[in-house]
Amino acid sequence: MNSISIIGTGYVGLVTGTCLSEFGIRVTCMDVDRGKIDSLSRGRVPIYEPGLDALVAKNLEAGRLRFTADIAEAVAGSNMIFIAVGTPPGEDGSVDMKHVLAAAESIAEHMTEPKVIVNKSTVPVGTGRRVKALVHSILERRGLGGLAFDVVSNPEFLREGSAVRDFMHPDRVVIGSESEAAAAQMRDIYNVLYLIDTPFIFTTLESAELIKYASNAFLATKITFINEIANLCDAAGADVHAVAKAMGLDGRIGKYFLHPGPGYGGSCLPKDTQGLVAIGRDHGVRMDVVGAVIAANDAQKRFMVDKIEKGLGGLDGRTVAVLGLAFKPETDDMRFAPSVPIVQGLIAKGARVRAYDPVAMDNAFKHDLAAEAAAGGLRACADEYEAASGADAVVLLTEWNQFRHLDLNRVRELMAGRHFFDLRNVYEPQDMTARGFVYAGVGR
Ligand code: NAD
Repeated sequence: MNSISIIGTGYVGLVTGTCLSEFGIRVTCMDVDRGKIDSLSRGRVPIYEPGLDALVAKNLEAGRLRFTADIAEAVAGSNMIFIAVGTPPGEDGSVDMKHVLAAAESIAEHMTEPKVIVNKSTVPVGTGRRVKALVHSILERRGLGGLAFDVVSNPEFLREGSAVRDFMHPDRVVIGSESEAAAAQMRDIYNVLYLIDTPFIFTTLESAELIKYASNAFLATKITFINEIANLCDAAGADVHAVAKAMGLDGRIGKYFLHPGPGYGGSCLPKDTQGLVAIGRDHGVRMDVVGAVIAANDAQKRFMVDKIEKGLGGLDGRTVAVLGLAFKPETDDMRFAPSVPIVQGLIAKGARVRAYDPVAMDNAFKHDLAAEAAAGGLRACADEYEAASGADAVVLLTEWNQFRHLDLNRVRELMAGRHFFDLRNVYEPQDMTARGFVYAGVGR
């Protein structure tokens, strides 16, 4: 029977480990962050992810899920070891592989029996082979050159905010492997998904690694494309929602990821588009489309600041209420959130910003926007109504459900001005105008 250890207990590692334990498999989640492990061992989940707390508690209680900071224990306790550590962007956009290589090294230093090493982190094409060579060289040095092991690529496609549901009902499971036995073990641990007719793609290590980057870069392209069309709609007096709906009805295009906004953010799309350009560079292949997407996405955030500035007739001395800081609803993740450059851009042009987010306040004010808060340009508010009090403009930046149902009359009364910049197109322009707002969405 397979048992699993997960090296790296972040968004992906914790969700993967917890969901696999829910499938009935014995799972040990390991992390170098002792604080995180201590907290998880007591059933306290350190990230905000809907539905995850209950699953962690249930499987901890059942004894199928455990947490450790001890790599030796994690390696000894399982026959399949998943690597789910971060692959952040380096200075030049290339993928920083230090955590993946450190994890592979520590597995090789501790293994004494055959293992399947499964890479779940998003990594450049060629990493599986690199990990194989690294593990092999360490085993040889340890006098264990004959010890069998396989390396599998199993990229993860879950989205923060719906990670548990995505893991339990994925559009596909991708397994890259050179070993039939390892591929069969992978199918076995995902048997629950196999039984509900989830498509499985069995392919090579290289193809599996590229599928992840190609998918994320394509999604980023779709978002950026509709943002560009939205900007044109604004200038030409068209409605991007009508355009996107009609485009999406074409089966060759598809209706998803055609919602305009302030530019994509988050822990995946920005770093994976940059990563793909760097991977292309390493292979002597120009990735011009992806390069243009990155540039256009950066420009979209500046364009939003300009739009607010123009709408208000200047930002100097103006008070702007920002609703939502997380890169999307249902997460506390602030990595590459569009709110960061937009808030910074507003402050740089002289605005005072009052901000509120239902769950990302801590991350935002302690890390990403700490300097702006310390300098006095940014103030944390207790809720959306405190943020709106005395503001010349409200900017809706993250479409949390509670911002979809604002008491608009109260907001209007609390504000000093009337401008409402709806960067997620949550509200209807006509309705907002009728309520006395000077309303601006994106592309309508
Ligand atoms: P994360 O930063 O939330 O978690 C990574 C964890 O790994 C951290 O807890 C860190 O302490 C730990 N770690 C680092 N080095 C370690 C080591 N040597 N041994 C043990 N633990 C170690 O990252 P994440 O968001 O979970 O992303 C992990 C990978 O999955 C990345 O490659 C990412 O691109 C990919 N991915 C992320 C998402 C997402 O939505 N977050 C979705 C799909 C794929």
